[in-house]
Amino acid sequence: MSGVGKGIASASIGKILQNYGYSVTAVKIDPYINCDAGTMRPTEHGEVWVTMDGGEIDQDLGNYERFLGYPIPKRNNITTGQIYKYLIDKERKGDFLGQTVQFIPHVIDEIKRRVYEAGDGYDFVIVEVGGTIGDYENLPFMFAMKSLEREVGHDHVAYTLITYLPVPGNIGEMKTKPTQTAIRLLSEYGIFPDFILCRADLDLDDVRKKKIETYANIDSDNIISAPDVKSIYEVPLNFERQHLGMKLLKKFNIQPKNVMTWDDWQQRVRLILEPSKKVNVAIVGKYLSTGDFTLKDSYISIYESLTHAGAENDVGINVAFVSADDLPDLSQFDGIIVPGGFGTKGVPGKLQAIQFARENEVPYLGLCFGMQLAVVEFAQNVCAMQAHSSEVEPDIPDKVVDIMPEQGKVEEKGGTMRLGGYVANLLQNSLVHSLYVNRMKEDAEEVKKMSANRQGMLGRNPVIEIHRHRYEVNPEFLNKLQDRGLVISGYHKRVDGTMLAEFIELPHHPFFVGTQAHPEFRSTLLEPAPLFSGFVRACLNKKQKVETVQEPGAA
Ligand code: GLN
Repeated sequence: MSGVGKGIASASIGKILQNYGYSVTAVKIDPYINCDAGTMRPTEHGEVWVTMDGGEIDQDLGNYERFLGYPIPKRNNITTGQIYKYLIDKERKGDFLGQTVQFIPHVIDEIKRRVYEAGDGYDFVIVEVGGTIGDYENLPFMFAMKSLEREVGHDHVAYTLITYLPVPGNIGEMKTKPTQTAIRLLSEYGIFPDFILCRADLDLDDVRKKKIETYANIDSDNIISAPDVKSIYEVPLNFERQHLGMKLLKKFNIQPKNVMTWDDWQQRVRLILEPSKKVNVAIVGKYLSTGDFTLKDSYISIYESLTHAGAENDVGINVAFVSADDLPDLSQFDGIIVPGGFGTKGVPGKLQAIQFARENEVPYLGLCFGMQLAVVEFAQNVCAMQAHSSEVEPDIPDKVVDIMPEQGKVEEKGGTMRLGGYVANLLQNSLVHSLYVNRMKEDAEEVKKMSANRQGMLGRNPVIEIHRHRYEVNPEFLNKLQDRGLVISGYHKRVDGTMLAEFIELPHHPFFVGTQAHPEFRSTLLEPAPLFSGFVRACLNKKQKVETVQEPGAA
């Protein structure tokens, strides 16, 4: 069922195969009719993940990238909506003239075609079929997988069932019935799992293992216990303790190509679990009234990026999801983040939090909307302008944040924002520049591969970050803002020559940085996003400074 951890399990299996020297990619199948996740509500479906090539995707693709460590393209997300839209458009064009377009073979063939295409050039493709076995919705995908197995041969496919074993509170015993039912339902498609990953609060015991072994008719060695763990990054380590990697390779009749160590990964996990220092960070957002779980999911990439940066710096991050409509006392936080957002709700509270951070030397990281609002706050309170974003106040005289010219013409909502990776050129000697030094070297090669539109007019110090927005800092006001001390530390120079502010900072503040991009979409456990690393270090400095000032012995 959804939420049981298929995404993390898939990402972990991918990571394990990678560590045996194989190249791996991952595909997420979402059985809904939406063409992508871009138009869905984050409180319901979790955050919208944005890919380097501009896809607005289910958040699971984010997990794949965080584990596998490289960009997964948007075509690796397949939805029912995409398949049908593609076939219907094709039919209308006359590409099937004379034929009856049907579920079998057309729908099934199109699903397979997409899986083959995603896997082209890789040793392994992990295909995660979303939803619950037995759902009407994922039936075509089950058919397609079975048909794919016949085409490539069973030696080249391993099925993994990810199942949930509940422990009903009143009896306190782990139940295998749902797993048995899942196995039976899968068998209706001719699918027999090669591996069963047993998700549960607790470890699987021998009695349960035996039951599942008999029911599924598989070796108990291939039944893997997957209990809850404190950090998602422990999951591959836990699987490897049960030798899942070697068992998988055995299934495929192959040997490890090149065995890589887990040392770095293990070290980061240890620092996530037992950091020697801790800081408190507030994420001031608006999707906050539906309970803790959803909160975290709406901002999952920010949360994970903080975790990555924390592990790199041996700092544990206590994240507080703070409602912009009901701000607590902000002095308890060592750092404040205003994340991406849309519309007017919660804006006054976000502005108040930004002003607090700016005036009290609290580290601030503004992401997309959080950067736009930092500019608005600066214009209002430092430049005394009658300023706002036209997204929030369409009739304000000084639209310091305004709709991008090409976005004003957009009619359809789906997939039409400025999406994906774009180059920004960083200002020499800025704080942002110093944070990106290593990434700049890495990105130099990537920049060359990008389209002219994504590159812009190339300049010095290029870095790539991922975007999702319709508004921008209004170029008309850049001089005025800069005159009063706002530093624009990175621009994207469009091919038409206009300048889009990508990074801002305040030089006399310990850490006040905003970006029009979403650096959280490029952060991985082993390579945290530079802005998050800088932010976390600044939070730690602030905390240590406060502690020295308050040291009783010093008085
Ligand atoms: N609403 C703003 C825009 O469209 C910011 C978007 C975002 O934060 N992702 O430009």
